[in-house]
Amino acid sequence: MLLNISDALTSEGKVEQKQAALEADSFKSRMGEFKILEKKPIEFTLTNLSAGKARMEGKTDISFQAVCDRCLEDVEVTLPIAFDRVVYAPDHEEAEDADTAPFMEGYQLDVETLMHHEILENWPAKILCREDCKGVCPVCGKNLNYGECGCDTFVPDPRMAVIKDIFERNKEV
Ligand SMILES: [Zn+2]
Ligand SMILES: [Zn+2]
Repeated sequence: MLLNISDALTSEGKVEQKQAALEADSFKSRMGEFKILEKKPIEFTLTNLSAGKARMEGKTDISFQAVCDRCLEDVEVTLPIAFDRVVYAPDHEEAEDADTAPFMEGYQLDVETLMHHEILENWPAKILCREDCKGVCPVCGKNLNYGECGCDTFVPDPRMAVIKDIFERNKEV
């Protein structure tokens, strides 16, 4: 949706609260497409800073359907989103170079593009169903959170062999 923020951009000293709803029902990026399970209204506080310039603070929570990086089970990921940016009126001299330029259409804020950007910035580096997820067995593929499978997965670590050699050499000196 587009949110008209012309009052905060043009009225000196203006402070206003606004709410906006995200229309998108999924988030698409290089990582894949994630269905949005729940979204709260986005709460904006807009504060006029000077002619054609306003501070835009906002926050919301969005929950996505994702998959655990280790065991591939479905996980619900809730992202708290918070931002604090400066927006400009289209005739302001800094409007074109501002990092908020892609989110503005005249005096209106493109909420969808802004939120896509904020979600991308806040996306977790790793998605786990739980902190100590045991993942799947590399041999049989069983989800190890449900118990051991009994496969022999012992792989001698070549780095340990090197350390052992150093210890033994030192002993001889
Ligand atoms: Zn997991
Ligand atoms: Zn196994």
